[in-house]
Amino acid sequence: MQSVDVVVIGAGFAGLIAARELGHAGLDVLTLEARDRVGGRTWTDHRLGHDLEIGANWVHWVQPHIWAEMTRYQRGIVRNPQTEEIYWRGADGSQRRGTVDEFMSLIDEGQQLLIDDVRSAIPRGTEPAEGGIRELDHLSVQDRFDTLQLSQEARDANESVWVGHLNAPLDQVGIASALRWVAATGGHWQLMHEASATYRIDGGMSGLTELMAADVPGEIWLNTTVTSVTQNDNGAVVETADGHRIHARRVVNTLPVNAAAGIHFSPELPEVWRRQGTETVASQGTKVWMRAQGHFPRFSAYGRQQDPFSVLKAEFYCTDEDGTDYTILVGFGADHSRIDLDDLAGMQEAVDRVRPGLTITEVTAHDWMTDPLALTTWMTHRPGQLTRDLAELQQPHGAVHFATTDNADLWGGFIDGAIESGLRESRRIITSIQPH
Ligand SMILES: Cc1cc2nc3c(=O)[nH]c(=O)nc-3n(C[C@H](O)[C@H](O)[C@H](O)COP(=O)(O)OP(=O)(O)OC[C@H]3O[C@@H](n4cnc5c(N)ncnc54)[C@H](O)[C@@H]3O)c2cc1C
Repeated sequence: MQSVDVVVIGAGFAGLIAARELGHAGLDVLTLEARDRVGGRTWTDHRLGHDLEIGANWVHWVQPHIWAEMTRYQRGIVRNPQTEEIYWRGADGSQRRGTVDEFMSLIDEGQQLLIDDVRSAIPRGTEPAEGGIRELDHLSVQDRFDTLQLSQEARDANESVWVGHLNAPLDQVGIASALRWVAATGGHWQLMHEASATYRIDGGMSGLTELMAADVPGEIWLNTTVTSVTQNDNGAVVETADGHRIHARRVVNTLPVNAAAGIHFSPELPEVWRRQGTETVASQGTKVWMRAQGHFPRFSAYGRQQDPFSVLKAEFYCTDEDGTDYTILVGFGADHSRIDLDDLAGMQEAVDRVRPGLTITEVTAHDWMTDPLALTTWMTHRPGQLTRDLAELQQPHGAVHFATTDNADLWGGFIDGAIESGLRESRRIITSIQPH
């Protein structure tokens, strides 16, 4: 049986960082990744005639862990195209169109009221489960919107904006998920919005993760699905679907909470993992790329949270080889099951609801919610989960460590959180075992 110091399960951001740090500390590391590529829920793919981020897209300098990687690998950022006009729903259901300033003044009061108590609820973004949040965490984002007494128009717009961030029906997301990210940006909702949806990485996510993978001292085996982890007195035996058995002194498991049951653990995973995995986290949304005929002013459009797409944006102007102009749109909705990627007519209808007058000719996406290696999008918590479970989810279980954005402190749910968790667990291992 092959024997290594550490097996890292998964080569997303958490896994790549953990493997790199462990390897650079002189430990013998083997990374096992089920997919045929590294990057996990980040994936740049050429579709609709353009490089598209099928998973994560945006990063920001207020996210310290990803920014350190941007510096290390000398990556730049590209700003989203400037929005020229905004569409939203009027109180009577009619379509409204206006400037960015008009839309911002429509949502300003609701955005501020939603997070008004952030400084007492979560005084430090690095400790999202400490503070007044302990008394508030039973509330959903919807509970709070219901108390705000906004006009119907402002309410629809505000709720749609938050669906874009939280990617779930708002009555299923804990208020902590909204407050923690605003706490991470010093209490400023505008900066949180900028941080989570404005700057993409020059050269794409996959450009960065490939550089990181090349910097991992040990081997990375792709197409290698881990099926079981059995702990013994000296560590654990990791088994793969293709019959490999590897002994490791430590294991770093990077699977998201929702997908953790995909591996058989002996002894079984701690209760906190089984409980949250059974409940599932709140995120369940969708991100869809679409091709629309022609070029038109770049817009953002906001519908209602019940719509298939609550947020729709015009991202890229393109021209086919035959000279035909088209625009690539991206849509976000609260519930992946409201979207059928094979139903172009249904997709056209979903677009018409938020931005009438376009013709959709092609659609592409990856349904992360039904992908057994993810079963989640970007993690947001159900009411109560964050304060109840975060500290416990960070604890190692014997030889098994857990590094995932799902158990990060600062930007949990984001790439930044994945990196934080990989750093945290690799450091714990480095300080507890010596290289052979
Ligand atoms: C559509 C979408 C949009 C997003 N947008 C943003 C954004 O704009 N900005 C941002 O910061 N974040 C965004 N995110 C979130 C971001 O992608 C994640 O937070 C981050 O990539 C998680 O990294 P991770 O390493 O914790 O998990 P993952 O990337 O999920 O890594 C886990 C790895 O484990 C592998 N694996 C699973 N099971 C097994 C097994 N049995 N054996 C071996 N390997 C296995 C998986 O294939 C995967 O590679 C988005 C996510 C999605 C889905």
